[in-house]
Amino acid sequence: MPIATVNPANGETVQTYEAMGEEEIERRLQLAEATFRTYRTTSFGERARLLHRAADLLEGDQDEIGRVITTEMGKPVKQARAEAAKCAKAMRWYADHAAELLADETPAEADVKDSGGSRALVRYRPLGPVLAVMPWNFPLWQVVRFAAPALMAGNVGLLKHASNVPQTALYLEDLFHRAGFPEGCFQTLLIGSAAVDDILRDERVRAATLTGSEPAGRAVAATAGEMIKKTVLELGGSDPFVVMPSADVGRAAEVAVTARVQNAGQSCIAAKRFLAHTDVYDAFAERFVAGMKALKVGDPMEESTDVGPLSSEQGVRDLAELVEDAVRGGATVLCGGERPEGPGWYYPPTVLSGITREMRIHREETFGPVATLYRVADLDEAVLLANDTDFGLSSNVWTRDEADVDRFVRDLEAGGVYVNGMTASHPAFPFGGVKRSGYGRELSGHGIREFCNITTVWHG
Ligand code: NDP
Repeated sequence: MPIATVNPANGETVQTYEAMGEEEIERRLQLAEATFRTYRTTSFGERARLLHRAADLLEGDQDEIGRVITTEMGKPVKQARAEAAKCAKAMRWYADHAAELLADETPAEADVKDSGGSRALVRYRPLGPVLAVMPWNFPLWQVVRFAAPALMAGNVGLLKHASNVPQTALYLEDLFHRAGFPEGCFQTLLIGSAAVDDILRDERVRAATLTGSEPAGRAVAATAGEMIKKTVLELGGSDPFVVMPSADVGRAAEVAVTARVQNAGQSCIAAKRFLAHTDVYDAFAERFVAGMKALKVGDPMEESTDVGPLSSEQGVRDLAELVEDAVRGGATVLCGGERPEGPGWYYPPTVLSGITREMRIHREETFGPVATLYRVADLDEAVLLANDTDFGLSSNVWTRDEADVDRFVRDLEAGGVYVNGMTASHPAFPFGGVKRSGYGRELSGHGIREFCNITTVWHG
C-alpha cells in the first residue's frame, strides 16, 4: 500500500510520500531510546504541563486538522473537528489524573509483616519506547488515546500510522513537538506495514499496541510473543444493539441510527447487529429504517453531511460483497443496498433483515453503514444471538427492566455493556474487548498501567 493521501470523495491522489529508509528508522530508534533515558525521570507536573499545551494547540488547530482528516479518510468534517476536540479532552484528563492513577500503592501492613519485611510499596515505572500501529478510522483519536497515557507514564511513542493518513500522522509528531515535548518523545515513522516486524524485533522497542484488523493484530502479536513483549490489541467488533419490550423504542431507533452510521459505519464500536424483541420489532424496524433513509449522504466537506464516503475502494467492495452474499442467501433489503454511480467511495445506509447463520454477514464485521436486523422471541434468545459472534468488543441494550439489565451484564461476552445509550469511549472508562476483539484495555487507570513496569519495592 503506497503511503499517500487519496481523497475518498473523488478518488484523487492528493499527495504521496516516500517511506523512511533503514537509516532514518535507525536514527529515530536511537533517538527514542536516548530520549526515554532522560524523559523517564521527568515529573508528572512537567509532563502534565506539556500535555495541557498539546491540548490547547490541538483545540486551536481543530478546523485545519479536521479538513486534513476529511481529505484523507472521508469522514464528515463536523465529525473530524469533534474528534480533535475529544482528543484535547483526553489529553487534559490524563494530564490531570496520571499522578493519582500511577501513585505508589502500599500493601496492607499485616501482609508486609507476613512477608518478613518492614515496609513495601508498588511503583508504576515506565517501560520505554512503545510502538503504536494505528488505523485510519479515527486517525487522531486512536493515536491520542495511546499517546496521552503513554507520555504521562514516562514512556515515549513511535507511531506507525495507516498508510492512507500520512498527513495526520505527521501532524501528530509536529503537535507534540510544538507543545514542547523533548524531541524523540513522540515520533512518526512513515513506513509500510512490511517494515513493522523488524522494528518490533528491535530490543529498544519494549512493547506494542495495535488497533486494526484481526490479521494485522495476529501478525504483531505473533512477533511480540516471540520476542516476549507486551501487547495491547484492539481489533474489530460486531456489537449487538438489543431492544427489549420495556424500552423507549422511539429513542432506541433514533440512537440506533447514529450508533450504526457514525464515521460512515467504520468504527469498531459501532452497533452492527440490531436485535429487537418480537413485541417491539415492527415498531423499531419501521423507525430505524426511516431514520437510515433520512440521512444525508454526500460531500464530507459539507457541514450538513451525515454520511461521507468510505475510506477506500477496497472498503466499499468488501461491504458490497457482504450485502450481495446475504441477498443471494435470501436476506431482505429494507433500504439501501445499491452502490451509487459516480466518483467517490460511497455506500448508502442499508438495513437487511432475514439474516441466517449461513450468511457471511452474520459472522463478519460490516465496516460501513450496513445494519442487520434480527427478531428475537425472548431474553434467552437475545443473549444467545448477541453472543453468537467471534467478536466481543462492546454491546448496547435498551430496556427499563432491571432484571433484563442484570442478565445482560452477567452474560454478554463483551468488554462493555451500555444500557439505554450507545457505546462511546470516555477517558475515564476502560475500553477494550474479549474474544477476537483483542485484549488489554485502553483509557482510564487500566489503560495507563498497561505499559508500566509494576515494581515491588520491599525493605527487610
Ligand atoms: P489494517 O488492520 O490492515 O490496518 C491497521 C494498521 O495495521 C495500519 O497501520 C496498517 O498499516 C497496519 N498493518 C496491516 N497489516 C499489518 C501487518 N501484517 N503487520 C503490521 N502492521 C500491519 O486495517 P485495514 O485498513 O486494512 O482495514 C481492514 C479491516 O480492518 C476493516 O474493514 C475493519 O474490519 C478492520 N479495522 C478495524 C479497526 C478498528 O478500529 N478496530 C480500524 C481499522 C480497520 P498499512 O496501512 O500500511 O497497511
